[in-house]
Amino acid sequence: MGKVFIVDPAKCNGCRNCQIACKDEHVDNDWSPWAKPQPDTGHFWLRVDERVRGSVPKVKVSYVARLCQHCENAPCMVVAPEAVYRRGDGLVIVDPEKAAGRRDLVEACPYGAIFWNEELAIPQKCTGCAHLVDEGEVPHCVDVCPHGALRFGDEEDFAAEIAASEALMPDRAAADRPRVHYLNLPKRFVAGVVVDLEADEVVVGASVTLENLGSGDVLVTKTDEFGDFWFHQVEPAAYRVYVEAEGYLTRMVDADAVEEDRNVGPIDVFAAPQA
Ligand code: SF4
Ligand code: SF4
Repeated sequence: MGKVFIVDPAKCNGCRNCQIACKDEHVDNDWSPWAKPQPDTGHFWLRVDERVRGSVPKVKVSYVARLCQHCENAPCMVVAPEAVYRRGDGLVIVDPEKAAGRRDLVEACPYGAIFWNEELAIPQKCTGCAHLVDEGEVPHCVDVCPHGALRFGDEEDFAAEIAASEALMPDRAAADRPRVHYLNLPKRFVAGVVVDLEADEVVVGASVTLENLGSGDVLVTKTDEFGDFWFHQVEPAAYRVYVEAEGYLTRMVDADAVEEDRNVGPIDVFAAPQA
């Protein structure tokens, strides 16, 4: 058992208080033996990645906080076992004295979490604010997050969150066993609007079905009062969208959401011939 971070991008609004708090805590402050001062530029021991998704007018922006994953099986420790160690509470520390000159550690981290301090000639990264944790406090980034998007504490207190969590890099999770657990990592959305161009109006209440062409899984929704439909948090995949509305012929369009979110744009429906 030990400490863990829980990161929930669904609660994050990109304010970057956490990023600034990291600077506030570490720039010009020497927290030896956990960390020497962070330079005032070039280091992001915690970084909030912003991604603009979709296309106008169906656009979402997602934010994901990235930091050292405090891996149980840390690749950085494998590369420099004499300079990197894990505390009893699970926080992984790059020893500022013993790691002097070890520029190779920057490349050793698959998460891009280690930075080179040119002035001090040492590799540096998030310590989990070990100096605060030792005082019974939480890391500064967690303390300032106004939306609960960052949490920190004892592993046993977050059992439910951990059970529901994902890894930042799923293909590395089994090997590295990160102690930073993510909830609601952004997946894909498929969205559009259903219109009757001949009548020059949107179609409200149309039934829209999304079929995953790989798995065969199906989701159904209805267009809202603007004729819009959204499918959120779907897996990256190729989809087919079926639109059905009373008095109209069924329309079908493909939506490739393998690499990116998909705005299928206006789907024009045509009145069914009168019997
Ligand atoms: S995320 Fe990188 S720096 Fe942090 S423990 Fe894992 S390998 Fe080491
Ligand atoms: S402080 Fe919280 S809400 Fe603001 S960017 Fe960081 S994680 Fe997101």
